[in-house]
Amino acid sequence: MTIQTIIKKAVKRLELEGKLLTPDYYAEAFCKEAKIAKINVEDCSHVKKFITSLDPKFQKELSQYRIKSLAELVRFLVSRLNRTNQSFCSNNLEAQIIFTKRVLQAVEVLHNKEASDLAKLSFKMLEDNPSTAIIDQFRQHWVNFVTTYDDSFLQLIGIKDKNDLQKSIQNLDFSSLSSSKTNDSDTALSKVASLLVSSFVPSIASSIDDKIANISQKINNNPNLLNTPNIEDEIKKVIKLRIALDKKSVKEMIESLDGVLDKLSLRLIEMIENTDNSTVEIQKIKKELELYNTENEKEKISFKLAHKKLYTIAIALEENTKSLSNDLKEQRDEVGALSKKITKLEAELESVREESKEDFLTKLYNKRALDEFMKIKEAEFDRYQHDFSIVLLDIDHFKLVNDNYGHDAGDAVLSAFAKILKREARSVDIVGRFGGEEFMVILSETDANGGAIFAEKVRIQVQKAKFMYKNERINVTLSAGVSERKKNSSLNNVVKSADNNLYKAKNNGRNQVVK
Ligand code: GH3
Ligand code: MG
Ligand code: MG
Repeated sequence: MTIQTIIKKAVKRLELEGKLLTPDYYAEAFCKEAKIAKINVEDCSHVKKFITSLDPKFQKELSQYRIKSLAELVRFLVSRLNRTNQSFCSNNLEAQIIFTKRVLQAVEVLHNKEASDLAKLSFKMLEDNPSTAIIDQFRQHWVNFVTTYDDSFLQLIGIKDKNDLQKSIQNLDFSSLSSSKTNDSDTALSKVASLLVSSFVPSIASSIDDKIANISQKINNNPNLLNTPNIEDEIKKVIKLRIALDKKSVKEMIESLDGVLDKLSLRLIEMIENTDNSTVEIQKIKKELELYNTENEKEKISFKLAHKKLYTIAIALEENTKSLSNDLKEQRDEVGALSKKITKLEAELESVREESKEDFLTKLYNKRALDEFMKIKEAEFDRYQHDFSIVLLDIDHFKLVNDNYGHDAGDAVLSAFAKILKREARSVDIVGRFGGEEFMVILSETDANGGAIFAEKVRIQVQKAKFMYKNERINVTLSAGVSERKKNSSLNNVVKSADNNLYKAKNNGRNQVVK
């Protein structure tokens, strides 16, 4: 008998005994067959050899346990060393190992890849006479597996009873599930596709870009495109493009609205500046704008409508302004003509004033006339040495009259004062208003003494006079300065001297004449 025949017989034996083809079982079966075939295989007598080398006491004991393999011998020795019941230990351990191996084989076929792989590895580990550390390591792997095991995926396919998967799965209607699922997912994808495509359409911009149109069509035609890897980037680009289009549109709209508003505000300003009757028109426009605002708030009217309304308002304003400015133009022409007339009249008045020699309030000579008369008198003095005197008369504290009774009262006093002056002077005397409340009298052929007598006469009359204004009596006094030509070197000096004397009269306490 050849070795091959023994090998075949050993394998057959294992089959008959229902044992797995493990190295241990195989070695045992092989040795049995070799013994039957009377072939001496050295490996088969290892155990015998080791046993004979043991103490006879152990040999006797060992013969009771019918030790057949090296592994059994070792287990026996280990149990002896541990002072345990060798027979029990050996058999039990072997039974446990076999049991564990069966369990592992069962786990291997239980459709869980992780468990199956770990079972395979554990089985192999048990075959290799593992150290305790290795066994512990594997035990830990199993602990990990159990603690991290997640069966929630079963719910996804509708399995509630996890204790009997087979039954639960049999109850599931896979056929309808699988066919309807594909249809459902197709329609869902189409829905998403059309939703996505409609979101590409700009919400403000009125037209869409070619690129957007292109990709929209592609996705609409084939929603499965959404499952392709590059689509995400393309969609991102399209969304960016859509936002840019909307932004551009908003900018344009705001600009055009700005233009209309500018026009509107210009017209309003024009109207306000150009006409007094603008209020009614502006109120109308205001009302329209208010209406526009509330409509805009409530109904969110479209930009186009708002734009149209504003534009209509602007046009209406333009029309109004045109008619108003026409009216204004006509009025302006009239005003222009009138103002020309006024300027002409003013010029005429001025020339009359310049020619006039009469003071408009007192009807006495005015300053210009007095200057001319003084020149005449000076000429007469030069030529004929005709002396003359100058009297300057100034009302005392006249400012108080104005302050206490008003300017009109002041005017009335001035007029009345002028009448007294005119009455007291002779017809040849020249009486005039030198300025404000200051009067001048030029007395021909009169020296300073004569002038002073005249001034004193006037002073007394004024003091006595009852100046009345609106039933109120106003007391008035005057101060006067007198000077004669002969005593002065020039006409100018006569006037200066009279003025100095008047100043002295004021300083001396007023209501007096100084010559
Ligand atoms: P003084 O005794 O120093 O002359 O005092 P005064 O207040 O008379 O003199 P002042 O020069 O301080 O004031 C003169 C006032 O005369 C001030 C001015 O308003 C007033 N006056 C001048 N001309 C007129 C006029 O035509 N009508 C009226 N009502 N007042 C005039
Ligand atoms: Mg005065
Ligand atoms: Mg004065």
